Amino acid sequence: MKRLMLSLVLSAGFLLRANAQHPAPAQESNSATTPRISEVVVLGSGTPNADPDRSGPAVAVIVNGHSYLVDCGPGIVRRAAAARRDGVPGLAMKDLTTLFITHLHSDHTLGYPDLIFTPWVLGRTGHLTVYGPGGTADMTKNILAAWKKDISVRTQGLEHANTTGYLVDTHEIEPGVVYKDENVTVTAFPVKHGSWDQAFGYRFQTPDRVIVISGDTSPVDVIVKACNGCDVLLHEVYASGPHSEMDSPQWEAYFKAFHTSTTELAAIATQAKPKLLVLYHQVFHGVSEGEMLQEIRNHYPGAVVSAHDLDVY
Ligand SMILES: [Zn+2]
Ligand SMILES: [Zn+2]
Repeated sequence: MKRLMLSLVLSAGFLLRANAQHPAPAQESNSATTPRISEVVVLGSGTPNADPDRSGPAVAVIVNGHSYLVDCGPGIVRRAAAARRDGVPGLAMKDLTTLFITHLHSDHTLGYPDLIFTPWVLGRTGHLTVYGPGGTADMTKNILAAWKKDISVRTQGLEHANTTGYLVDTHEIEPGVVYKDENVTVTAFPVKHGSWDQAFGYRFQTPDRVIVISGDTSPVDVIVKACNGCDVLLHEVYASGPHSEMDSPQWEAYFKAFHTSTTELAAIATQAKPKLLVLYHQVFHGVSEGEMLQEIRNHYPGAVVSAHDLDVY
């Protein structure tokens, strides 16, 4: 099932959006005629739940045909292949080389070995370059150690795999500008994710847009500052309205400390004023998607949509 497709590629990296199920908000109504340099592709909109329709959290920011990945939940490589099939540029296996990790929760990193090895097995020769919190280097080292026999068989046996494409250059980052090239400036900002000592959100400044990705966080002012009228704010959320069902007081306490409720997100969006608010990593707690959106709309008048895997904004 394709929820939407990029239907037209004007030239390398210049995209038009065709989003039939989630029409562009009024302020973006010119997008049908104005080529875009950058787009946000939701590769995985999910959570730890093994929802067959929602892969683990992973996002691709595409700028001038280059991809910049944020998080690597389970399913990331196959969803990248699906988005490529839909016409999104920059997601060929050889192009999956730049990754930003928000935090090291397993739902955001179970696709990390997949991203290290699968594109390599399929011919990538470039290293994977990774930016993430403290612990990223250790995780990387341990993944490479866990698959050392595979690496040895593939490089020394009849597969004749190249000897560079599985290598990873890790950068453990602090808040501030963590990456800059001709397409994008990426700024990491610290968010508050319960007992995690480090968790980041990322702000992408591209030639035509500002895109802010929350990662996992309880409500924090830094999102308001990072967005400040940004084009797209992709934010995690859990349902908190009268119809939502929390399993137990313990889980309620967990969600309060680790995540952002619909009412809290509405308050953040009211201050942050994104041109488009995109919900991802949605925890529905028994409510429908429409009810979750209504919980936001009850307190926030701006444009808001609920993301699905392979949606493009
Ligand atoms: Zn998560
Ligand atoms: Zn998390």
